[in-house]
Amino acid sequence: MNKKFDPSIVDHTLTMGKKKKIALVAHDYRKENLLDWAEYNKDILGKHHLFDTGTTGGLIADKLGLKIHTYMSGPLGGDLQIGAAIAENKIDMLIFFWDPLQAQPHDVDVKALLRIAVVYNIPVACDRSSADFMITSSLLDESYKRFQVDYGKRLKELSNK
Ligand code: PGA
Repeated sequence: MNKKFDPSIVDHTLTMGKKKKIALVAHDYRKENLLDWAEYNKDILGKHHLFDTGTTGGLIADKLGLKIHTYMSGPLGGDLQIGAAIAENKIDMLIFFWDPLQAQPHDVDVKALLRIAVVYNIPVACDRSSADFMITSSLLDESYKRFQVDYGKRLKELSNK
């Protein structure tokens, strides 16, 4: 391993407020599962700011009557919009029930979204049990400082060597 580049070094922290900005996304064969989970956790979700891709958002708004900011449909750019919102610190957490059994036409967008969530160190749940652990965490209603590596600075340091 190159010791000059240590991504575990924290350059700064970003503060998540007590009210979290939570993105909820599901691929078609997992929408029912996410809807059921969201209905079960409706009271908790209702205390936070919710964001969604187009179709998932429409279903959650219809079924649960929760206020949601809805982006475009995932395959039409919604996943990338959510990724951009994460990069702009407009989303704190991602619950993304992606389909492990079917190839998606927008597979590269899915990968980009999952990648950017790790770059910005936000909590991500891709299955129901992870989502259960996330939503019941005592940190959910606390303000939280998440570590952030300044990758731009790190890359610049490397290129100057
Ligand atoms: P959808 O997008 O909510 O518009 O179906 C989901 C996705 O594929 O990201």
